[in-house]
Amino acid sequence: MIKGFTAGSMLDSYFHPYSHSLITAVLWSGVAALCYKPLCRWLGFRYTKSAALIVGAAVFSHWILDLIAHPRDLPIYDNSAKVGFGLWNYRNPEFALEIALLALGICLYLSRNIMPAIRKRAVISFGIVLLVVQIGDTYVPRAALTDRATALGVWIFYTLFVLVALIIEKLRTPAAK
Ligand SMILES: [Zn+2]
Repeated sequence: MIKGFTAGSMLDSYFHPYSHSLITAVLWSGVAALCYKPLCRWLGFRYTKSAALIVGAAVFSHWILDLIAHPRDLPIYDNSAKVGFGLWNYRNPEFALEIALLALGICLYLSRNIMPAIRKRAVISFGIVLLVVQIGDTYVPRAALTDRATALGVWIFYTLFVLVALIIEKLRTPAAK
């Protein structure tokens, strides 16, 4: 973690061959696509091959988006041959792209799913919360945290966001009594 490491992010994630090399990103995407079938069977959801492909592509999209954002610290393999276009060095365009992707995701989710009004409102509210969090992260100056605190914070917040999304996904109109 380096204060002012890039304009948009203080996170100097310089060693991540397991999560972030191109080779492991391909592997993780394959694992996700393959796990989708047993997961569907286990949860009783309908399985289609194209959905498994979309899951794999969604996992891989992380690497593509990181390629755009990261400052030349993404390894192609192991911990070498590093790439990254460094959009994090440009605070406003980076912020705009981030929010545009969030808004696009929300619009897709709302337009492609039939859902009760309560879930629609929850999705939009959660989007606003994420927007505020991103404004804080990008524009509000703060002291650099220790690596440990950063790792812990990222872990806690990402888990929390996933849990909130899961709860929203389960929202139904309360049955009339
Ligand atoms: Zn990443």
